[in-house]
Amino acid sequence: MKELFQIIQDPRFHLLYGVTQRFSAGPQPQRVRLNREGCKLVEGVTKRASVHPNMRLAVHPNPGKGDKFSPIFGKITDVSERSIFIDYIEPDEELRSAAAAVKKVDLLAAPEQGQELAALLKSLGLNTRSLGQDCSTLIINGLNPDPGVTWAEPMLLAHQETIRAGLKVLRRLSPANRIILAVPKELNLHLTDIEIAHVPAHYPASINALVVKAVTGKENPKDVGIVGLHNLWSLGHVARTGLPLTETVVTLGSLEHSGNYIVYDGSLIGDLLEFAHIPLHTGDTLVRGGPLRGESVDKLSRSITCGTPSVFVVEAGTIPPMEGHSPCINCGACVLACPARLSPSILSRNAEFALHDRNTAEHITSCLECGLCGYVCIARRPVLQYIRLSKYKLAQAAEARRCLESRRTIEASCTIAAQPESAEAQGGK
Ligand code: SF4
Ligand code: SF4
Repeated sequence: MKELFQIIQDPRFHLLYGVTQRFSAGPQPQRVRLNREGCKLVEGVTKRASVHPNMRLAVHPNPGKGDKFSPIFGKITDVSERSIFIDYIEPDEELRSAAAAVKKVDLLAAPEQGQELAALLKSLGLNTRSLGQDCSTLIINGLNPDPGVTWAEPMLLAHQETIRAGLKVLRRLSPANRIILAVPKELNLHLTDIEIAHVPAHYPASINALVVKAVTGKENPKDVGIVGLHNLWSLGHVARTGLPLTETVVTLGSLEHSGNYIVYDGSLIGDLLEFAHIPLHTGDTLVRGGPLRGESVDKLSRSITCGTPSVFVVEAGTIPPMEGHSPCINCGACVLACPARLSPSILSRNAEFALHDRNTAEHITSCLECGLCGYVCIARRPVLQYIRLSKYKLAQAAEARRCLESRRTIEASCTIAAQPESAEAQGGK
């Protein structure tokens, strides 16, 4: 028990790092791979088409999800269901003129509010689902999301002009009458234009549900929403540039190196690591997202998207690898570590044997996906991955049930509609 307590008290889990220097500019990409999942391509966006910075390439049908824009001059080399691939080309006069003709939007002076403003922001590439959520209190989660991710402090201390611009637009977008910025207890922040709440800064305290509890004193209170600091930064960045969102802030890290960069949407992970002088050796693991909650990536040609918090190289030998087939030894460490008071061992075993239905009764939806269960597991079971698999399977099954239900409803209404006609036909005989 004492040992487990020490693991959770790992100093690397303290989410304040004293990093305050401004973000460095990232590389100018020679190739980008934009995630276009769920988006409809704009007419003319096909293989071999030329594109320029801030050119709209795809539109998401969901009003809360931002459209997709090219971050660079280039030629589209491929388009798949999930991605648009662009290779940089030296722009000719026509392409330069098209880029120069992109109109800037003065978001700070624009009259739009609420839904109208949300539509305008969507057309500038911003996701507004969490920024504009329906609630009376909106909390901005100002903590570094995962151990090792270090951009929250410099965002709050060295990039205040962007945060202030974001706040100005957010007040016109959000229906909340109270907006609170949650920051670590020890952070000395001078920001007069927003109510500030101080919360613990030891992982997993940065998980949204735990920040809400720390600020309000309640678990899952009604009418309280939460949004990440990264979203506020993106809003402020678009407000200051007047141009669509094609950049994001990311921590690039390894055991030896860590830095925060403003990089282009769709930048390839290999290019980012090379730019940051982070070497990758045989046996190292590449992680996109936080070290505890992220996903391992199999190729350097994978890319980041706006909102990816970090990319890490975990050097071979620093952490024992996960073993998918290793059995649970019932040590109970994961149960003690779980901040949601769940039984990760049972959840993972149910998932392992495809008994996903049983996980509903085990309250799998309350899992915060903090990753602590996998971190403390001495059997090196991929506990979080099992839980995510089970959540996915349950969501798939629920969707299939919904489809079946609506098909039955349609069939029933067709039968009712057809009855008078057949009665008439019979009467006419
Ligand atoms: S990821 Fe694991 S430890 Fe974290 S809330 Fe879910 S079950 Fe609990
Ligand atoms: S899943 Fe891992 S940490 Fe949890 S009880 Fe089993 S062996 Fe222990």
